[in-house]
Amino acid sequence: MKLKLDGWQLGITFSACHFLPGHSKCNRLHGHNYAIHLHITGEPMADGMIYDFVALKKAMKLTADEMDHCVLMPGRSKSMKLEHSGTQVNVSFGSKTYSFPKEDVRILDLELVSAEMLATYALESIIKQLELGSNITKIKVGVDEGIGQGAWASREL
Ligand SMILES: [Zn+2]
Repeated sequence: MKLKLDGWQLGITFSACHFLPGHSKCNRLHGHNYAIHLHITGEPMADGMIYDFVALKKAMKLTADEMDHCVLMPGRSKSMKLEHSGTQVNVSFGSKTYSFPKEDVRILDLELVSAEMLATYALESIIKQLELGSNITKIKVGVDEGIGQGAWASREL
């Protein structure tokens, strides 16, 4: 049996900007509206539920809120250099340099801020917030980069 939560329909979305070094078009700073989705596979427990929808939505929302209206930067990038200087974060790659106020930047433990990597990040973030019982066998998290395209990451439990 499966629980499905759709971020677009539930309003579990965030807006953020990023860039992908090396990509012909996406190497320029730009933004997206993102949505986070969740699928949980398992069997209902004695209370008839696989997991409480309220708790699932809370974990998804917190994950979205942490990135909302932020400049998303990959903390483990191999091609970009991130430097902290006073109240600023300076980012450079190739011939480009950006400087952002620290409070506007969310540095994620990722090599790239692609939909694929964001799905992996959101999966870890949501798993950390849940108490997954033995009735749950799989958790799958999707991050859409705009409506109609997204990436999914999953873990068997
Ligand atoms: Zn993009």
